[in-house]
Amino acid sequence: MGRPRKRFGQHWLRDQKILQKIVEAATIEKCDRVLEIGPGQGILTKSLVSLSDTVIAVEIDRDLCRTLNIQFEKDARFHLIQGDILDLDLDNLLSNQPDVHPPDIQHPNIQHPNIQHPNKVVANIPYYITGPLLEKLLGRIRQPNPRPFDSIVLLLQKEVADRLYAPPGTKTFGALSVRVQYLADCELICPVPAKSFKPPPKVESAVVRLRPRPFPMQAQNPKLLEQLVKVGFSQKRKMLRNNLKGLINRDQITDHLEAMALNPQARAEDLSVPSWVTLSNRVSEMMK
Ligand code: SAH
Repeated sequence: MGRPRKRFGQHWLRDQKILQKIVEAATIEKCDRVLEIGPGQGILTKSLVSLSDTVIAVEIDRDLCRTLNIQFEKDARFHLIQGDILDLDLDNLLSNQPDVHPPDIQHPNIQHPNIQHPNKVVANIPYYITGPLLEKLLGRIRQPNPRPFDSIVLLLQKEVADRLYAPPGTKTFGALSVRVQYLADCELICPVPAKSFKPPPKVESAVVRLRPRPFPMQAQNPKLLEQLVKVGFSQKRKMLRNNLKGLINRDQITDHLEAMALNPQARAEDLSVPSWVTLSNRVSEMMK
């Protein structure tokens, strides 16, 4: 086995207890179709294949794909796609036909209409693609993933994980928190120390579970909400009304915040996700 490749964010999980927590958090049943991103040497893949009849693994590293194919040879539950997860159009590649165990997928540009679309994601992801990957899996406020996954269990950088489940009014609650929490329920499963990997990454990690769902209170103008969140958090020390003044008159924001029983001097991080939606809906009404 070759040396881990830094540029692909390769850190092999070596902790069986963490592995078990990841798998338990995903509550996998035989009928689930699991998407694994970055199977690497297959430690997680082995557990996934033992629990589910369909595991679709996407791995960018050709050498690893070769060893994975040998390791899981003749296992009809395992389907390997060699490629960059961010470039793949899974909708196009897979379809909703019953699974008839086609050969392994070596060329992402060839369609595989016989594998059903995955309904769960379980992955120890390369940290350098965290942001774009979250967007790929969840979509964005203005365009949620039209095929939401039932659950997404990810091992990621602790600093990013903290932002995903941060409650409002805390330092870690930022634009990413609002964007992700609007699209999914987020929870911490467990922290993961660097020593659980070989080689250990420079940062601490954590396992989180995301459950996509429509937010109970929908934004009338999701594009506007997305814009308000982006601009509202642009300078974290500033009051919200000052950050937003290029978009909306300061006095109007003050009126909205007061009408919502919020402090007009509030900062972006003080508003809960429902408050963001309310603010956006009020502004949207005003613009009509
Ligand atoms: N799941 C394994 C490996 C995790 S390391 C384990 O837990 O031990 C991250 C893995 O993601 C590596 O195998 C790396 O080659 C792969 N990878 C990196 N960038 C990728 C990308 N853009 N698309 C798919 N896989 C990627």
